[in-house]
Amino acid sequence: MFEQALHLLKKYYGYDSFRKGQERIIASILSGHDVLGIMPTGGGKSICYQIPALLLPGVTLVISPLISLMKDQVDALTSIDIPATYINSSLTQSQAEERMEAARHGAYKLIYIAPERLDSERFRSQLETLPISMIAIDEAHCISQWGHDFRPSYLAVPKVLDLLPQRPLVTAFTATATTEVTLDIVELLGIDPEYSFVTGFNRENLTFKVLRGENKRDFVLHYLEQVREQAGVIYAATRKEVDTLHAELLQRGFTAGKYHAGLSDEEKTLYQEQFLYDDIRIMVATNAFGMGIDKSNVRYVLHVNLPKNMESYYQEAGRAGRDGEPSECILLYHPQDVQLQKFLIEQSVMAPERKPQEYKKLQTMVDFSHTTRCLRNYILEYFDDEAVEPCGVCSNCKDESELKDITVEAQKIFSCIYRMKERFGASLVAQVLKGSANKKVLQFGFDKLPTYGLMKSYKEKEITDLIHVLIAEGYLVLTDGQYPVVRLDAQAAQVLKGQAQVLQKIRLRPEKTVSGDN
Ligand code: ADP
Ligand code: ZN
Repeated sequence: MFEQALHLLKKYYGYDSFRKGQERIIASILSGHDVLGIMPTGGGKSICYQIPALLLPGVTLVISPLISLMKDQVDALTSIDIPATYINSSLTQSQAEERMEAARHGAYKLIYIAPERLDSERFRSQLETLPISMIAIDEAHCISQWGHDFRPSYLAVPKVLDLLPQRPLVTAFTATATTEVTLDIVELLGIDPEYSFVTGFNRENLTFKVLRGENKRDFVLHYLEQVREQAGVIYAATRKEVDTLHAELLQRGFTAGKYHAGLSDEEKTLYQEQFLYDDIRIMVATNAFGMGIDKSNVRYVLHVNLPKNMESYYQEAGRAGRDGEPSECILLYHPQDVQLQKFLIEQSVMAPERKPQEYKKLQTMVDFSHTTRCLRNYILEYFDDEAVEPCGVCSNCKDESELKDITVEAQKIFSCIYRMKERFGASLVAQVLKGSANKKVLQFGFDKLPTYGLMKSYKEKEITDLIHVLIAEGYLVLTDGQYPVVRLDAQAAQVLKGQAQVLQKIRLRPEKTVSGDN
């Protein structure tokens, strides 16, 4: 059967081989297993169900939440002679009926539907009359209340599975799934967790950089000068920030477009098309930009604000280099952006019990911004994909600073946290170590602690940075919530006892601050 799959890949799509992850997934489906495929955007999910759909008898029902993309997906299939159709709210009742009737007579191998269809009892009973051999669930994270895009209608999928005269093969796909979400998907859909595959997150042509403490505006202007001829996306966190940066760029003579939910449809379409056709090189946007945009020659993605979590970050950064050419993903880190994201979490309408989860995810972005390990491997680890050799090109791999023994600094920090009874956040700890006379420090009597002012030769920001590095490296843990508290991990206890060293690539210049000769 797998031979045939390869044959069809060549025949319909013109490709010679499957990608490694596709191969595992397709082989599992063809040997009769339900699967969950976790693959990033561009990883090649569609082929994972389209080829089996061709090999299986009857029809494959594809559940997809993106009504706006369904027509394109179906057009793409029909253009390569794969019989497919879609049924969604853009059709009239009689058009939908016609398509169902044709489906009953075997006119299609794939039918795309929106999950909301399944809410209709009439539609569900029509499904019973179709020879469905497989259900492919795209954007499967929408079924999980822990996912960032929960769609109640997705919960109708398990119901439909129970209702069909014979359970079809179930294949689910998503680009973004944390452990909780993965467990939710396999449980709700009855997929054997052994057949969940994480794959394809490594994008070899992308180079990751994290820069802390840059002046945002200066950096962007300087960077854009260097990449003038190339297309790129600049992501900012808020509409206001997008508007400001966009105006600034125009004023500086750059041709740039912008995109956010506050623009009119005409404006959005205009800028989007100008960008797609290379009439403008730069797109300044919020995270509203990108869904379904397949521009292959994006050479850089610049995040001027911290995204809310790793999933969003990687999805946005991953819009660079779809053509496989070397491309750059740069994240500018500023502590205020963490505050901004916290504010957005607090303001959001999400259920309160989801908030701790969101804070935790936000923290993984902060960790990413402070880790000293290979950034690519940090990402792969986050997504549970297999780690690779350190990439050698990310800002951490390239960091020439020597591995420094910061055991003493770490001990000072740990001991201060201990003396503050592990009940406060990173910034207050830093203020105490700095010897700040701020109100809160005095109010709690922390100026009486032996660790007060113990690191006064450092800038407060350097101390905070250092604390974040120690969090990212697992010496310290942060509690969840809006006001996370720093606690010591077992590793830190060892360091305090002098049983372990802390070696990090980090630039510390306490002396300079003291003598003021910089
Ligand atoms: P996803 O749905 O995961 O975002 P797609 O299915 O749209 O990804 O595939 C992304 C791109 O990769 C498409 O242009 C597709 O034709 C291409 N592609 C998929 N599988 C292969 C393969 N085995 N060999 C070469 N290109 C592939
Ligand atoms: Zn690296």
